[in-house]
Amino acid sequence: MVPPSADFIAKAHIDAAGYEKMYAASVADPAAFWAEQGKRIDWIRDYTKVKDTTFDYGQVSIKWFEDGTLNVSANCIDRHVATRGDQTAIIWEPDDPKTPAQHITYAQLLESVSRMANVLKAHGVGKGDRVVLYLPMIPEAAYAMLACARIGAIHSVVFAGFSPDALANRINDSEAKVVITADFAPRGGKKTPLKSNTDKALFDCSDKVKCMVVKHTGDQTTWIDGRDIDVKAEMAAAKPYCAYTEMGAEDPLFILYTSGSTGRPKGVVHTSGGYLVYASMTHQYTFDYHEGDVFWCTADVGWVTGHSYILYGPLANGATTIMFEGVPTYPDAGRFWEVCAKHKVNQFYTAPTAIRSLMGMGPEWVEKHDLSSLRVLGSVGEPINPEAWNWYNTHVGKGKCPIVDTFWQTETGGHMLTPLPGAIPTKPGSATRPFFGVKPVVLDPANAEVKTETETDGVLCIADSWPGQMRTLWGDHERFQEAYFAQYRGYYFTGDGCRRDADGYYWITGRVDDVINVSGHRMGTAEVESALVAHEAVAEAAVVGYPHDIKGQGIYAYVTLMNGVEPTDALRKELEAWVRTEIGPIAKPDLIQWAPGLPKTRSGKIMRRILRKIAENDFGSLGDTSTLADPSVVDELIENRMNRG
Ligand code: ATP
Ligand code: MG
Repeated sequence: MVPPSADFIAKAHIDAAGYEKMYAASVADPAAFWAEQGKRIDWIRDYTKVKDTTFDYGQVSIKWFEDGTLNVSANCIDRHVATRGDQTAIIWEPDDPKTPAQHITYAQLLESVSRMANVLKAHGVGKGDRVVLYLPMIPEAAYAMLACARIGAIHSVVFAGFSPDALANRINDSEAKVVITADFAPRGGKKTPLKSNTDKALFDCSDKVKCMVVKHTGDQTTWIDGRDIDVKAEMAAAKPYCAYTEMGAEDPLFILYTSGSTGRPKGVVHTSGGYLVYASMTHQYTFDYHEGDVFWCTADVGWVTGHSYILYGPLANGATTIMFEGVPTYPDAGRFWEVCAKHKVNQFYTAPTAIRSLMGMGPEWVEKHDLSSLRVLGSVGEPINPEAWNWYNTHVGKGKCPIVDTFWQTETGGHMLTPLPGAIPTKPGSATRPFFGVKPVVLDPANAEVKTETETDGVLCIADSWPGQMRTLWGDHERFQEAYFAQYRGYYFTGDGCRRDADGYYWITGRVDDVINVSGHRMGTAEVESALVAHEAVAEAAVVGYPHDIKGQGIYAYVTLMNGVEPTDALRKELEAWVRTEIGPIAKPDLIQWAPGLPKTRSGKIMRRILRKIAENDFGSLGDTSTLADPSVVDELIENRMNRG
């Protein structure tokens, strides 16, 4: 266990005893607990009903603060303007470090969001209408999200790396009135043609869909008169103030499609009141955020992490939040740390995939920069292997910053399992304990019964609702109930497997689909991957099962080697022996394929369902691949597959 320092505890919002007491209260009487916590945001009409939720399959219904009214944009902007109008709300750090960063104050944010809201209104967008955003990480993305919230429109952000097809599907599924895009998206020195992608997407959409274009790089694009709208020009001409609309707590705030690592993306719906209370509270406690801190979440606003922890959580708390347009390795592998030093970042939040790739470049890129402002480090997106955890702790945190490994999902709106940095000692690779109001349970997948022993493993479910929970899937409440409430009746099923240790700490073992059964032994693929990555020659690994005559399932490992390491048969033997000694003979991979690249979603998650198909020698129908970052890696893997039959 790695406890926080006495110094850290002294300044933290909450210590160990405080956490235990508050957690116990939060699950003993959720309605009373959240009635109190709901006050952290401003309501137009106060709520009298706090919690009305049921997980009963067939009638799943989730309502929080349902008779309260509020406006999310007013909570994120207006209420701060009187006291901190001149404080920076958003620091925008452009892709090219030679372009100066922008510091946008709360007062300026109010004006820009108002102008954008007035442009949307002028084009007929109102309460309940859907607006799709397909934008780079630029201030206009934040303006657009908050402008929608201001007038009660529902935004659906589509990551700028997605294809025209993926964009068209999302515009059609949500029946959006408007798509807001930009001419180009610069990232890592390259430019993605967003406008021309949008043109392609709109071929497959209703011709009523309007296209608003942010001229960001200023490069030439095609222009369709009558359909395309120059956002910046219209914002400049619009009125500088827009009154906010009174919204019900349960009115939808946004739709966001999941990353699709396990199948067809789902249109997750989040509503206004409960979501904001939860985003704001988790942001404060998980990152031990204090007034005046500079907070940096490196995610894209195309992911839920960007929604809750670049925008809504930090701004609800009156924080200074960084929006970064670029990538960790441009112009060099020190970019993250250069930005941390430049803006004196206090809390830094990123994904294991980024940490692993930077780890592969060597610690010298970190050591060049002054990281003394950092207090808390965060991780999200997948289990963080202890190797990467230790590197992060030693080289970035210098052993003095607690690491918060936050387990949560698009569906959960905010953190579910996470250390609170002054209260919960960490263990490398564990998401530790539940956040306030979250009741995790471990179920036996064989009989759906709750496992009551402390030390156990199984599937992770949640026994009761929390305010940040999704309410439905857009236009498909049926699929919502099927996906999350059918398999384990009375519980929300996360889809993830987990282990609970003797201290009551949770360890996510990966998707339940990713558990393999070798000669009767159930094994999480994450464990084998973690062992492989611990070898000095290995940069990344992905493990899946495949049908094996004798064992039932065999272990198939895709291995990406460190820069400059030669793939040889000797190395293959060495890795087999390595896993044998690290975990045991049962975990020895049967087949190892050298993989120069792995199929990943745009958010950096390995798409194991594709790897499973290749390992099974069944690659005819790979399913939905529209969310892949680089589809060409798949052909390479099929070409060199190890199981031919
Ligand atoms: P889809 O549901 O469409 O397959 P997805 O699950 O990849 O997409 P997200 O909601 O972005 O989309 O990801 C949530 C999942 O990410 C979790 O269910 C879990 O598997 C994984 N995850 C997130 N954070 C952590 C973490 N700290 N530790 C372990 N796993 C994590
Ligand atoms: Mg999921």
